[in-house]
Amino acid sequence: MMPDMKILKEIQEWDKQIYTLEEEKNTIPEQIEAINCFIVEQKNVLTNLQDELKKLQLKQKGKEVELAGKEENVRKYDAQLSQVKTNKEYKSLQDEIASLKADNSLLEEQIIQFMDDVQAVQKKLEEQKKKFQTTEIEQHQKVKTFEEKAKAIEGQSEVLTKQRNEKIKQVDPEIASVYDRIVVKKRGVALVEVTGEVCNECQMTIRPQIINEIKMKEKVVFCENCSRILYCE
Ligand SMILES: [Zn+2]
Repeated sequence: MMPDMKILKEIQEWDKQIYTLEEEKNTIPEQIEAINCFIVEQKNVLTNLQDELKKLQLKQKGKEVELAGKEENVRKYDAQLSQVKTNKEYKSLQDEIASLKADNSLLEEQIIQFMDDVQAVQKKLEEQKKKFQTTEIEQHQKVKTFEEKAKAIEGQSEVLTKQRNEKIKQVDPEIASVYDRIVVKKRGVALVEVTGEVCNECQMTIRPQIINEIKMKEKVVFCENCSRILYCE
């Protein structure tokens, strides 16, 4: 192995780690976004229940007002009964009162139904409130963990990058620049061992002439398929 290759082999291990770390870090924003979406969804469930409750309470109130008005009319007509002069008027008032009372019992049924509905939604709302409180705390904790992980990865990556940048100074600048170009282009793998006459990265069979060139250790040799730098132990 060329002496430069020995150093590059060491650097290559660090570069692999750096790129693996970077890929891991790149998935974090998406995961945080998913958590934030989940929190918003849960919050929306809560808001929708609050709206539903308000609407039901308003409807109930409306019916109660209507009932109160009609009950007032029943009392009014009841009072008028003693003052009417003709049977016809009397009968007419009695009919009116009966009709109002029928309306009122229907209204009462509706109000009872609304009360049941309100109670059911209130129960759901309380449950959702509790669920949301717990969810929010849990999910924020998850986000915090991801943020800390991203920071830790950044730290590790920085240390490794500094280390490899220092080490690569020991490599012939021309070879180092070729290596650096490939490592960026190939997302972390620029140097590949040939074992069993095969490039370990792209699995292409290496021609005997190329293998000879590698063994001569006189120049940098590339895989004809994936363009990475090849070496043999
Ligand atoms: Zn290859």
